[in-house]
Amino acid sequence: MIPRRFPQSGWVEVVTGCMFSGKTEELIRRLNRARYAKLEVVVFKPSVDVRYAVADVVSHSDERIPCKPVKTAGDILRNVGTASVVGIDEAQFFDASLVDVVNRLADEGRRVVVAGLDQDFRGRPFEPIPQLMAIAEYVDKTLAVCMVCGAPANRSQRMVHRESQVLLGAAEVYEARCRAHWDPDTFDARQEELPL
Ligand code: ADP
Ligand code: MG
Repeated sequence: MIPRRFPQSGWVEVVTGCMFSGKTEELIRRLNRARYAKLEVVVFKPSVDVRYAVADVVSHSDERIPCKPVKTAGDILRNVGTASVVGIDEAQFFDASLVDVVNRLADEGRRVVVAGLDQDFRGRPFEPIPQLMAIAEYVDKTLAVCMVCGAPANRSQRMVHRESQVLLGAAEVYEARCRAHWDPDTFDARQEELPL
C-alpha cells in the first residue's frame, strides 16, 4: 500500500526549455510545495550530471534539493519506493525507456514532474523529451533571457566547438540565445583550448 496517494489517478508534468530557462528552479519549486503538503517526494537525476553536486539537484541560481543519482530509467522504478510525487531532472540524458517508466509511475497513481531540455545545441528535438511532452497531462515551456539582446530565449548556444550531442557544462560552455542570435555553427574561438 502506498500511503497518501492522490484520490484519482496520477499524472505527468513536463517542464522544458533551453539552458538557464529555470527548469530546475521550477522543478524544485513544485517539489517543495508537495513537501509542504506532506506528500512523500523522491527526486532523481542521471548520474552523469555531476556539474554542481553528486547527490543534489542544483539550479544555476544555487537552489538545491537532495536527489538519488541513477544510471538508467529502470533504476528509477527500482528506487521510487512509496513516494507519491516523483521528480526527474535532466531527463534528456535518459534513453527512450524513460517514457514507459514515467507512464508506469503515473499509472500507479503518482504525480511525476519531469524537467529537461527540449532541443540540443543544434536546435534538434532532444529525445526523449518530445515523447514525454506527447504523453504528459501538463507541459510548460520555460524561456531564458538572450545573452546578446535581452529578448526571451529558447535556444542553447554552445560556446565551444564540439559536435557531440551531449557536452556537460554551464555558463562556461553554453549561453541562452533568442532565435535571431542563435547560430549552432558559430562559437567563441577563445574557448577552443578549454580542456573538456
Ligand atoms: P535550467 O534548469 O533551465 O538550466 P535553472 O533553473 O538551473 O535553469 O537556472 C535558472 C537561473 O539561471 C535563473 O534564475 C538565473 O539566476 C540564472 N541565469 C543565468 N543566465 C540566465 C539567462 N540567460 N536567462 C535567464 N536566467 C539565467
Ligand atoms: Mg536544469
